[in-house]
Amino acid sequence: MNFDLIINFSYLIAAILFVFGLKLLSSAKTASKGNFISAIGMLIAVLATLIMKEIVDYVWILVGLIVGSLIGIFAAKKVKMTGMPEMVALLNGFGGLASLLVGWAVYYNNMQIESFTASTIFLSILIGGVTFTGSIVAWAKLSEKIPGRPTLFTGQMILNSLILISIIILGVLFSMYPTNTYNLLIAIIIGANILGILVVIPIGGADMPVVISLLNSYSGLAACSAGFVIQNNVLIVSGALVGASGIILTSIMCKAMNRSIGNVLFSGFGSITTKPSDKEQGEVKSCSAKDAYYVLEAAKSIAIVPGYGLAVASAQHVVKELADLLEENGSDVKFAIHPVAGRMPGHMNVLLAEADVSYDKLVEMDDINRIMDSVDVCLVIGANDVVNPSAKEDPGSPIYGMPIIEVDRAKNVFVLKRSMASGFAGIANPLFFKENTTMIFGDAKKTITQIVDEF
Ligand code: NDP
Repeated sequence: MNFDLIINFSYLIAAILFVFGLKLLSSAKTASKGNFISAIGMLIAVLATLIMKEIVDYVWILVGLIVGSLIGIFAAKKVKMTGMPEMVALLNGFGGLASLLVGWAVYYNNMQIESFTASTIFLSILIGGVTFTGSIVAWAKLSEKIPGRPTLFTGQMILNSLILISIIILGVLFSMYPTNTYNLLIAIIIGANILGILVVIPIGGADMPVVISLLNSYSGLAACSAGFVIQNNVLIVSGALVGASGIILTSIMCKAMNRSIGNVLFSGFGSITTKPSDKEQGEVKSCSAKDAYYVLEAAKSIAIVPGYGLAVASAQHVVKELADLLEENGSDVKFAIHPVAGRMPGHMNVLLAEADVSYDKLVEMDDINRIMDSVDVCLVIGANDVVNPSAKEDPGSPIYGMPIIEVDRAKNVFVLKRSMASGFAGIANPLFFKENTTMIFGDAKKTITQIVDEF
């Protein structure tokens, strides 16, 4: 059998494993198996690539492997669960940067190329550059290194369009005259990196999850273009898979927030916030963990609604303990999961899985809303935006139209949080002032531990 055939066959196997891995990733039950299968696919792809061409000296490959693994192990151990979205944003950014560098290096080493190769270099640099700086801005916003609010200025859209059109013109010129036009390429690199910053700064507030999954998709498209540059089939396939799955996730997230992608990218959502004063809203009732215990003890059906604060408090294990006690006490306990609760897609699912909460206890937003009127107690743990009734009651609210878990329709609502502070979107929450709502102020883990102790 010829050598090229074996390599391409290995790539085919790797691509099939990626597709199966992705399929399994779509359900929490099979996700870790899917991850493992995809990793095997990646191992096969990397080994086949290394065997196929002596790209660099094996010593450098070994050095890269050791340095990369050490950084990976360090990051995986050090990054907290609440820091995962920032980490994902950075990883997307590095993916984009890698594709940009591949395109750049290929041209730098050989400036006598065909128009087709030049156009793929242009695409990998454009998409890679936008992904790189866009992801760095997303990382800075999520980690609060810069304000998370949208940065808007007059003529922003016109400026962004002009930069994009200029880059495309430069790209067309570069593809038509690819010989010794290094200056054009440098201008494209600079333009793409500036564009990445400019397209992400006007996005903020609760729209960041959509941006992260969109940038994830871009990093795949950049890798796909880089695959064409170096004519590597498995990079083309895996890049296309990441690009396509990122777009599917983006559209699911948009649907979950009842927004169109155009609206997310261009509306400057969250730049104006309405903060009605507490006086306008009415009285806030609060109680102790012990008081809540008496109500929970008598409740037949209980819905636990976790949010970002659950991750901050690392309260997942004690929540599971409480849910077990409530069930032993004869209550029906469900976990109601909002698709954008937390700070990354699936954040709550991951946290609860870590605490061994069984998947059949997890209920999606639409399903819990259907039965909300019959729920005796909703225990809102560190969730805020995803239960904010302004989304359905206040047409002037920046989150108006976003689907929420309608906890305000339950008979009793306990909200566990430390203060009256707003959530990620930075807007007031009228839920806290409703007749059937009682606040339990304090760290969620402490409060739940106290309720568990009462049991
Ligand atoms: P929110 O950010 O709306 O609210 C979290 C609440 O948790 C805060 O109001 C905070 O109040 C409370 N909290 C923080 N620490 C603790 C603690 N130790 N104990 C108890 N409570 C605590 O979270 P939601 O999950 O409701 O909504 C997610 C938001 O994040 C949405 O706006 C979403 O669009 C956005 N987002 C989602 C992403 C995703 O992919 N899921 C990614 C990026 C953003 P207090 O300070 O008073 O305790």
